[in-house]
Amino acid sequence: MQDKIERMKELSKIVSEASIAYYVNDNPIMSDKQWDKLYSELVLLEKETGVVLPDSPTQKIGGDALDKFVKASHVSKLYSLDKAQSFEEILDWQSRNQNIMNFDTTYSVEYKFDGLPIAVEYDNGVIVRALTRGNGEVGEDVTLQAKTIRSLPLSLAYKGHIVVQGEVIMKLSELAKFNNDAEEKLKNARNAAAGALRNLDPKITASRNLDFFAYNINYSETDYFESQQQIHDFLVEQKFLVAKFFEIVSSVEQIKKFIDKIDVERHKLDFLIDGLVIKINSKKVQEELGFTAKFPRGMLAYKFDAEETDTKLLGITWQVGRTGKLTPVAELEPVELCGVTVKRATLNNFNDILRKKVKIGDQVFIRRSNEVIPEILSVARTSSDSKEIEKPEFCPSCHTRLIETVANLYCPNHIGCKKQIVGRLTHFAGRQAMNIEGLSIKTVELLHEKFGTSVFADLYKLTFDELFELEGFKEKKTQNILDGIAASKKPELSNLIYALGIDGVGQKMARTLAAQFGSIEKLSEATIADLDAVPDIAEISATDIVEYFADEFNRKQIEDLFKIGVEPINSSNSSIESELLGKKVVLTGGLDNFSRIEATSLLEKLGAVCTSSVSKSTDLVVVGKDAGSKLDKAMALGVKTINEAEFVEILKKYSLR
Ligand SMILES: [Zn+2]
Repeated sequence: MQDKIERMKELSKIVSEASIAYYVNDNPIMSDKQWDKLYSELVLLEKETGVVLPDSPTQKIGGDALDKFVKASHVSKLYSLDKAQSFEEILDWQSRNQNIMNFDTTYSVEYKFDGLPIAVEYDNGVIVRALTRGNGEVGEDVTLQAKTIRSLPLSLAYKGHIVVQGEVIMKLSELAKFNNDAEEKLKNARNAAAGALRNLDPKITASRNLDFFAYNINYSETDYFESQQQIHDFLVEQKFLVAKFFEIVSSVEQIKKFIDKIDVERHKLDFLIDGLVIKINSKKVQEELGFTAKFPRGMLAYKFDAEETDTKLLGITWQVGRTGKLTPVAELEPVELCGVTVKRATLNNFNDILRKKVKIGDQVFIRRSNEVIPEILSVARTSSDSKEIEKPEFCPSCHTRLIETVANLYCPNHIGCKKQIVGRLTHFAGRQAMNIEGLSIKTVELLHEKFGTSVFADLYKLTFDELFELEGFKEKKTQNILDGIAASKKPELSNLIYALGIDGVGQKMARTLAAQFGSIEKLSEATIADLDAVPDIAEISATDIVEYFADEFNRKQIEDLFKIGVEPINSSNSSIESELLGKKVVLTGGLDNFSRIEATSLLEKLGAVCTSSVSKSTDLVVVGKDAGSKLDKAMALGVKTINEAEFVEILKKYSLR
């Protein structure tokens, strides 16, 4: 028995070290196969002996579910920090402190994570307990859940009694992966992390692939840490995951440049941060300054401009899209958000309005998420003057009576509804679609008004004389458009699929569909089951695709297009037997000679499978200018990289260049 326990201790140590090397240091020290073998041996021994060591890595998959969370007191109070919204407030903080006492110190600057803070207690080198912050004095015991976090060490080389504070986060890439498969999509990584950690079933926590960033030591029984720098070094030494960004500056003035830098860079991070934490580096000075009624004086949280704010909903405009779908657009009282004035936000459909119980005149919360149109999250306050939003009965563009599907309102007038027609034709002519230059919204509107151009095939019937008579059309412009139209008669199949404008079918999905089905005819015959079998196609898109081809108008429109001589070429399934066949390739940084889409499509022609993130299974990374963390990761994992010139060499070999 004792032999077995000893072996279990040994296995726990090796397997844990390998996991930390992989998840914390991005630097695998053993193969997956070897890891699996040792892990299985440990599981078997645990079954045989009925013993699970407290730091056993088998707990990473999560044990039995709890009935409820038990509350427990923190060893040392977890303070929240005083906040600053501007650089001036940081200077004020500094002079307030200098007025209390004279001191000379450096400052540490680090990320302010937008996650869930927890305190993790270790004793004798083993994790004992993890508590949420709660009210700072009492938190909830989430030990079993925390033990499943892949980057949280369950044992330390350090043997003293110690409490490490850090933040539980869900990486944005993990959130995206989760949302890819999930029926109920999660909107925000912070809530996703909190929901996963505060789930009574540790197996669910484990399945969400959370991470833990350590940033402070809250309590240490025996050792005294003299500075934030020392704490940081200690955390690194003990193999905690820490943010790459940690700076020591000699004066408060120097913090300004980091504020400006990180405010821009944060949008490229794979996790959410909402500011910077500034700490007086010397722990002695921190202690001497003491506390205000609520906060420690030696630390300050600088918050970036909020990505969320509230404003008044003034009205709703219903927009008709190219498929006839109506989208409610919220007209807002103009408000500043992340440095831009926001006047409009989206409310996805009528169901969304009902679900959020939004009324005109309400004060609503809006959120801006990466460069897309802001969204209304919920109602902040309603008033007795607020008015219900009426469900429209008629199309705002052509006044046809609307039809209603489960989620959306549609204008069924495909042939006569101007907004639909213009939307459809401009999308069709767009750059990544049929790529017909010169067909702007304004031109398409003109064509529709003058010649009744409404379906795809109509574009191919336009004559020189017709175009030439339009206002502002000279010989060259007219000829350019006609040339563009003629050239588009032999489109790449994936471009044509995208050009059809099926809801939810973007360029990437169009390429997948082209490769999978090989022709519009085959695609139009695909059932939901056929489409579900295709990787990367969500159920909702499968339904949209089937519904699109079930519509007689759409079928006729495509038929006419073929009749007039449009002939798609499918080069996606004639992939070349190149050295990249079946290889997983990641593109990073900017290329001089190709757009990302072009490079991806060329790689696919070479038979490569393009993925977005670098992992152990990546075969090759094509590195362009200003490559960032993906290159670092590739180097750390020892993945082969090539530059643009080498990429071009491969293309030349197969006459793709
Ligand atoms: Zn209409």
